[in-house]
Amino acid sequence: MTWTDEEIRDDGFDDWLDAVAADEGYHLECPDGHASLPPRLVCPDCGATDLSEAPLADAGEVVTHTTVHVGTGAFDDQTPYVVAIAEFDGVRITGLVRGVDPDDVDVGAPVEVTVGENPATGDRVVVHRAR
Ligand SMILES: [Zn+2]
Repeated sequence: MTWTDEEIRDDGFDDWLDAVAADEGYHLECPDGHASLPPRLVCPDCGATDLSEAPLADAGEVVTHTTVHVGTGAFDDQTPYVVAIAEFDGVRITGLVRGVDPDDVDVGAPVEVTVGENPATGDRVVVHRAR
């Protein structure tokens, strides 16, 4: 085990949110170039264990999205809202879409990843903000 592995092991999802909030988002990359998000110790594509950090692309685009009309639990009073998977230079990130009318979210729409808050709980959430 190398020091690099140790550092990644300590990088939880909250650390990743901190980095995204500071505009220093990153992803993990294995020697074959497969991208994944922390926390992870093993490449989900090939099983490589020597993952390194690489900067996240500034701009992404919506790959797929769904509008939620009936919320559950913490998101109960925020419907309708859109959950989308956006791709940032090969890195796929799931988040809430904000800054655009739910009806206007389309595949291919440009977004940037930020960190927002669930007003009902105060929890931090991944947000894809329309560019
Ligand atoms: Zn890999």
